[in-house]
Amino acid sequence: MIAEAPLALEKEFNPWLTAETRFNEAAEKLGLDDGMRKVLRSPAREICVHIPVMMDDGRIEVFTGYRVQHSIARGPAKGGIRFAPDVTLDEVRALSSWMTWKCAVVNIPFGGAKGGVICDPTILSAIELERITRRYTAEIIEFIGPERDVPAPDMNTDEQTMAWIMDTYSMHHRQTVTAVVTGKPVNLGGSRGRSEATGRGCLIVTLQALKRFGLEPSNTRVVIQGFGNVGGMAARLMARAGFKIISIIEYDGAVYNPHGIDVNALLKHRKETGSILNFAEAENMDRDEALFLECDVLLPAAKENVLHSQNASRIRARILCEGANGPTTAAADQILADRRIFVIPDILANAGGVTVSYFEWVQDRQGFFWNEQLVNGRLEEIMVNSFKDVTGYGEKHSVNNRTAAYMLALDRVAFAIKLRGIYA
Ligand code: NAD
Repeated sequence: MIAEAPLALEKEFNPWLTAETRFNEAAEKLGLDDGMRKVLRSPAREICVHIPVMMDDGRIEVFTGYRVQHSIARGPAKGGIRFAPDVTLDEVRALSSWMTWKCAVVNIPFGGAKGGVICDPTILSAIELERITRRYTAEIIEFIGPERDVPAPDMNTDEQTMAWIMDTYSMHHRQTVTAVVTGKPVNLGGSRGRSEATGRGCLIVTLQALKRFGLEPSNTRVVIQGFGNVGGMAARLMARAGFKIISIIEYDGAVYNPHGIDVNALLKHRKETGSILNFAEAENMDRDEALFLECDVLLPAAKENVLHSQNASRIRARILCEGANGPTTAAADQILADRRIFVIPDILANAGGVTVSYFEWVQDRQGFFWNEQLVNGRLEEIMVNSFKDVTGYGEKHSVNNRTAAYMLALDRVAFAIKLRGIYA
């Protein structure tokens, strides 16, 4: 029995199995026919490349990279590229399918894709990272493009990475093609508001959820895991909106203050010391314990598989806003449902990023750029409408928010496929 537990958890942690479980449940509830299930389940294209790179010390190293395009039924494939030592094809597959569903939930005209390169950015120089990025781009170049597949940043990639991809693609095409990637620097065709869009989206949907609990930001206690792009920005925006951020959790520990943390001061402290720990205005706490603090909103914004069958019963939050992709395993879904935790599923909660990526793509193609107010206003409209669409769908079909989001998305993608027909 003891030997079986890690194996069972390992299976539970496979993101592709999580994606499949949720897909099957939604497909069943929608009554999708077998053929459509097969089309929607399998990624349309999986590319694997082995990239030779000259390292700084003169050695040649070969890195493996993936690009999975799950669907182009509703428009060009869209999704980030991550650099990490433990990237797997199953993970990239799952993430690509979540992008399809995410774009459909917020009703923007994109399909889904994801990319990953197996490498450890912490031990690579900037030049080595640039070489990996450019060669990876060259290897997948015929499969990407503004009308084909539009990459974006994800874990350990950023606007500099996007600038290199844009430049490599543009050099091959002998013209500047800004719309080939999103998440670029603003002065290179990036959109205002993009860097904070995912965190802002989390804030917008959380504000919608509060209404259901009669909560005001001032009496809402928030615990945030991950103080990076998504979590750091969500923390700043939520604090500015009056929320009480009682704990921030990072990989090396957590900080806790029941009266609320000064987020800007904590960001400054981390910049100066390299860690959130030992912050004068909060006490240090064990990172695993902080996840189970009593709070109103728990916002996991670090990585996948944080909440699972072995710990979901310990959560003491009323609202779970999934800033990260796949922070909850499928096996934990029922536990959360039984405990009546209001889940804002990842494919809705963190869709602010891809929504402003869509705005960036539109602006690049128009060659006409919007001010931040316009970007944020349009983002808010889409996020609020999507929240209402998902919760309304859930109420109509008596299913929880996650199943509702999947059903809504599958329905929209299946509709597009039916209209287009199967090309033979
Ligand atoms: P990031 O690298 O900027 O931030 C992640 C943070 O989490 C880092 O500060 C890291 O130190 C911390 N972390 C890592 N492991 C941890 C652990 N075990 N416990 C606590 N903290 C830990 O990445 P990001 O862009 O903020 O992405 C975070 C998640 O959000 C990922 O799942 C990503 O796929 C998802 N996401 C990001 C965006 C976006 O626009 N950046 C959009 C949608 C979804």
